[in-house]
Amino acid sequence: MTLNLMKNNITTLSFLLMCALVSGQDWNGIPIPTNPPIDMEWELQASSDDFNYTSSASPKSSEFLEKWDDYYHNAWSGPGLTIWSRTKSLVENSTLQIPATRLNAANISTGCITSRETIIYPAYVEVYAKVMNSTLASDVWLLSPDDTQEIDILEAYGDVNPTRDPINVWFGERIHLSHHVFIRQPFADWQPTTPDTWYYDGTIWKDGYHRFGVYWRDPLHLEYYIDGVLAKTTSGMEQIDPLHHTNTVNPGDTSNDTRTGLNKAMDIIINVEDQTWRSNQGLTPTNTELANTDDHTFKVDWIRVYKAVDPLSVEDENAKSIRMFPNPVLNSLQIESNSRLKSVSIYNLNGVLIKIERLTETINTIDLSELANGLYILKFQKDDSISFYKKIIKEAN
Ligand code: CA
Repeated sequence: MTLNLMKNNITTLSFLLMCALVSGQDWNGIPIPTNPPIDMEWELQASSDDFNYTSSASPKSSEFLEKWDDYYHNAWSGPGLTIWSRTKSLVENSTLQIPATRLNAANISTGCITSRETIIYPAYVEVYAKVMNSTLASDVWLLSPDDTQEIDILEAYGDVNPTRDPINVWFGERIHLSHHVFIRQPFADWQPTTPDTWYYDGTIWKDGYHRFGVYWRDPLHLEYYIDGVLAKTTSGMEQIDPLHHTNTVNPGDTSNDTRTGLNKAMDIIINVEDQTWRSNQGLTPTNTELANTDDHTFKVDWIRVYKAVDPLSVEDENAKSIRMFPNPVLNSLQIESNSRLKSVSIYNLNGVLIKIERLTETINTIDLSELANGLYILKFQKDDSISFYKKIIKEAN
């Protein structure tokens, strides 16, 4: 081989390697199973991770630390018998791995990681993960930094060993599709308990990788997708928060409805845990089971995070700071903003002012029931000099 030819080959090889590095996001070609809200587009977020790098358990690599902290989002060490450790997460074989081992006679040592960036609706978050062959929980979830709102993307206990209590097999064949709303003081936790929160389609989840995704469309609407197929929809205030836990004024006060639903930005958390309600039933791994490290390592091949953005307002930070739902709207429209606004003016497509509403809070509800169906332009006035626009579709009653 001449020197030039060799150089060419090396150049070609480097080029191919570079292509593999930059274009190799694992989810390329896998369609997002749901459309964003009307007139919006999915935008991939920086918290997405294909874990196609390596990181030791300690110290973590810079690629890992760019996106994740290797602990829970506060100092809590985990539920029940769980003790989380920063050294119980690593990236190997292009996969995030969270092992669980015996810490002492009572406790289990395992890991938890939290995204650096929060996500807020409208958003689609999906993981490609292998549920552990364990009674422990394999978890991917969203949680507001103040621990009051939670969306579970994947919660599963993959062990289907029939020599345990028969209930073990029942749980092992299911994926828990749930969300929580909490009051912290005094502590109260609500989650739906309808049968459809325990998804079953005959799959033995521990046997392979599957895709688990949630479309968080707005504070009152969640769609759960498994392997790209809609598995459950949770929609409406009574399904999201029947006990008024998200009341802004007096949480839990059912006589004064100021509920917001799931309206807070959330951290992404990936972890393994031993849950008290399960270990209380004897559903906690034995020493022999824990000694099988492959069974007791939660593996996540990738996570992708999309936020729905309005392509017409991508340059306008003010418009980006407004969230409106539902869109299309039937009667009342909820408008949430990061800062106080003065008013919203509603124009039809001929530029005729239909209605003007003063906005007094950062969360406002306006009545649009009298509008004819069609597309409207909303002009938001922030102060005397700053205004910006968004679109809304009105549906017929
Ligand atoms: Ca990967």
